[in-house]
Amino acid sequence: RLKAAKEAGSRDVLRSPICCILGHVDTGKTKLLDNVRRTTVQEGEAGGITQQIGATYVPGDAICMRTEALRKGKEFELKLPGLLIIDTPGHESFTNLRSRGSGLCDIAILVVDIMHGMEQQTMESINLLKMRNTPFIVALNKVDRLFEWQAVKDAPIMEALERQKPHVKAQFEQRLQQSILNLNEQGLNVALYWKNPDKRKYVNIVPTSAISGEGIPDMLQLLVRLTQDMMSERLMFISELQCTVLEVKVVEGLGTTVDVVLVNGVLHEGDTIVLCGMNGPIVTNIRSLLTPHPLKELRVKGSYVHHKEIQAAQGVKLAAQNLETAVAGTQLHVLHKPEDLEGLKLLAMKDMEDIFKSVDRS
Ligand code: GDP
Repeated sequence: RLKAAKEAGSRDVLRSPICCILGHVDTGKTKLLDNVRRTTVQEGEAGGITQQIGATYVPGDAICMRTEALRKGKEFELKLPGLLIIDTPGHESFTNLRSRGSGLCDIAILVVDIMHGMEQQTMESINLLKMRNTPFIVALNKVDRLFEWQAVKDAPIMEALERQKPHVKAQFEQRLQQSILNLNEQGLNVALYWKNPDKRKYVNIVPTSAISGEGIPDMLQLLVRLTQDMMSERLMFISELQCTVLEVKVVEGLGTTVDVVLVNGVLHEGDTIVLCGMNGPIVTNIRSLLTPHPLKELRVKGSYVHHKEIQAAQGVKLAAQNLETAVAGTQLHVLHKPEDLEGLKLLAMKDMEDIFKSVDRS
């Protein structure tokens, strides 16, 4: 589709939006992603906390499949190739990484535990989102924890709510109103997504359960709708490169690699790239362009798919020489004309200043 549009000279092609997930520790960020992916990354994490930022690409087909019950046979006009979800570490010492993470996101999911409401990192997350001007939705998670909730596996949330006993519905309503009040106190206008009077003024709330899957179809559909309907300009695929380094990692057999999020543009095997390094700019050539298999996460060990070229948006692993000192959170640039080299080196190193500034703030 992309190729055909490009050959026809059309720029009317959207890239996948980048979505990040944040909120207080233990609200269910990892489980929500697991549910979307249907794998259990969490169990594989030593001690549960890692300093990694992973990414999950959810292809359009998977989104269509998960939202089918919600559409009841109706066509979903999916204009996006998919969604790229960036996972964020669930520990408060990673505010710095989180703040960088939210900068590259088109949309975010703020996860709130329906049983706990507002917590310390919920407020921090809201401040980050406000600071970055990132649109977001609120996933009011763990609805299955309501007393005597009857699980309706993977059901659209309204359907699941209708099936609950009156006292469960009442409990839901009461906790919902409490959360709405808490969010109002943070200066946010919020509304249940199906009661939202104005999507541009009110933040959408979608109740979910990461365990039994209620509301997951709604959450995915909402992310797609909001991004493709309201940000089509921003999501227009352009050839100008926008690429952020998430992590620098040594991988057996590959040496030091960088995991990047390719937000916009194209990367090719053999491209000369310029990155921000601890001791000065790094200039090197891309030896391999690697992606995990679809619906697997970058941090899940396993084999990689090799590519000649990769188009945005995707989480990509790059193997190249001299990456040891690369700095996470900075931009990666591609050198097209030799005379641009000095300019790109300066540009790459400018990110270092910004990182120190954000460290000072947190
Ligand atoms: P994170 O720190 O935000 O990533 O939270 P996790 O995904 O690790 O979840 C924290 C704990 O809450 C784990 O024990 C999960 O099994 C549990 N949990 C997460 N989501 C739900 C949910 O929707 N319902 C229930 N009952 N438990 C959940």
